Amino acid sequence: AAPFLSVRDLYVRFGTEDGVVQAVDNLSFDLERGRTLGIVGESGSGKSVTNLAILGLHSPNYTKIAGEILLDGDELTGAREKDLEKLRGNKMAMIFQDPLTSLSPYYTVGRQIAEPFVKHTGASKREGRQRAIEMLAKVGIPQPTLRVDDYPHQFSGGMRQRAMIAMALVCNPSLLIADEPTTALDVTVQAQILDLLKDLQQEFGSAIILITHDLGVVANTADELLVMYAGRAVERGTVKEILTEPQHPYTWGLLGSMPRLSSSVDEPLTPIPGTPPSLLAPPSGCPFHPRCAFPAEVGGSRCQDERPLLAPGRAAACHLSPEQKHTLFTEKIKPR
Ligand code: SF4
Ligand code: MG
Repeated sequence: AAPFLSVRDLYVRFGTEDGVVQAVDNLSFDLERGRTLGIVGESGSGKSVTNLAILGLHSPNYTKIAGEILLDGDELTGAREKDLEKLRGNKMAMIFQDPLTSLSPYYTVGRQIAEPFVKHTGASKREGRQRAIEMLAKVGIPQPTLRVDDYPHQFSGGMRQRAMIAMALVCNPSLLIADEPTTALDVTVQAQILDLLKDLQQEFGSAIILITHDLGVVANTADELLVMYAGRAVERGTVKEILTEPQHPYTWGLLGSMPRLSSSVDEPLTPIPGTPPSLLAPPSGCPFHPRCAFPAEVGGSRCQDERPLLAPGRAAACHLSPEQKHTLFTEKIKPR
C-alpha cells in the first residue's frame, strides 16, 4: 500500500527582492499513520517551509512548488485553495511555536477550539462548546467547564499550548504538524507537552511531523528522523540509529550542541562553527562543506564539486565512506 503521507522530490523556491531563495531542494520522505517523524535542523534549514508546503499555506504569488505531496492518496501540490481549506483543521492540523500569536485575544479559548469543529462538521454552537470542554479535559486542563469561557490571557503559557493542541485535534486530524511546539516553554512543561502529544497520538492514531532545532525534543518523541541542512535532507534513520550512530558530520555537530539532560555536570556545549549558508546562492557540491571538518578525509575537491545524494532508507548524504563515517564518529565525535 502507498504510504499515508508521501513527499517526493519537493522543491520550494521563493522570489525575493534579492533573487530566488532555494528554500527546499529535492526532498523526499514517507510517513505512516500512528508514527512520528522528527524533522531537525537549524533555523533556515527548510523545516518550516516544508511544513507550510504540505499545508498549502505558501502564497502562490511568490512561491514555486514542484514535486509531489500525497496525503492518503490526495495530491496536495497544485490543489485548489478550496480543497486545501477542507483538509486544513480537519484531516491535517498544525500546532505552532507561539500560542499567543495563533490564539486570538478577542475570543474565548472554548470558542476558538470549537471553531474548526463547527466549521467542518456543521455542529451547532452548543455542541461546539461541549466538544471544546471535552477537548480541554483531554489535554489536561483542570475544571474545563469553568475554563472554557476564559480568554487566552487568563491561561498560562503551558495551558495555552495545551489549548492549541486541543484546537488542532478537535476534528481528529490524521496528520498533525507541530512546529517547535515546546520552544517557548520551560523544560518541565516541555516534557509534559511532549508526553501529552504521545498519549493523544495513541488515542487518535494520527501521524505527527515534529519540527524542531533541538535533538533533545525528538529523542523521546519521534520514531524516525530527517535531518535537514540548507533546504536539503542530509540524514535519515530511526531515532535510535541517529542518536547512537549518526553518519553525517552536520548531525555530529547537532549532537555535540545538544544539552545533556542526564548529565549532572555543566558540560560546555559545542556549537557548530560558522553559520548556515544563504539560500540565495547555496554552496556548490555538499552544502555543508564550508563548515565541515572532513573534506580532507574525502580527498581532492570532491566535497566542493560534487553534491552528495541521500539514498533511500537509512542513509546520509555525505561522500565519506561507511568505514570512515564509523571510525570518525566512534573515535573523534562520540561523547564519552
Ligand atoms: Fe563534509 Fe564532505 Fe561529507 Fe559534506 S560530503 S558532510 S563536506 S565530508
Ligand atoms: Mg521555523
